[in-house]
Amino acid sequence: MPNKPPRICACGHRVAAGVRCPCERKADTERKARHDRQRPNSSARGYNGTWERECKAFLRKNRRCKRCGGAASLVDHITPHRGDTPLFWDRQNWQPLCTNCHSSAKQREERRSSTEDLK
Ligand SMILES: [Zn+2]
Ligand SMILES: [Zn+2]
Repeated sequence: MPNKPPRICACGHRVAAGVRCPCERKADTERKARHDRQRPNSSARGYNGTWERECKAFLRKNRRCKRCGGAASLVDHITPHRGDTPLFWDRQNWQPLCTNCHSSAKQREERRSSTEDLK
């Protein structure tokens, strides 16, 4: 196997063949961190099977939308759980909502948090 000559990285560093330049390693780490942030956290992963099942069970007992009294079709968190697992699964923090009420509630909440961001 002939030795490969070192290469010159885009940043100007001279790097041995097959080795990541520090700037590339940094970029890798940042890319990975970005990826990890995008990956749902453990409570959001709870949105899969278990959540679906618990939602349906909850809605079987709570058929009416908490706000308008219409047919509830989803479970909403009264206090936003923001990744807080115990709060996420706390039935006291669940309320049955219809899609309309849910989307208007969420819109209000998003407006509230976006004004908080501006502070
Ligand atoms: Zn470099
Ligand atoms: Zn409703």
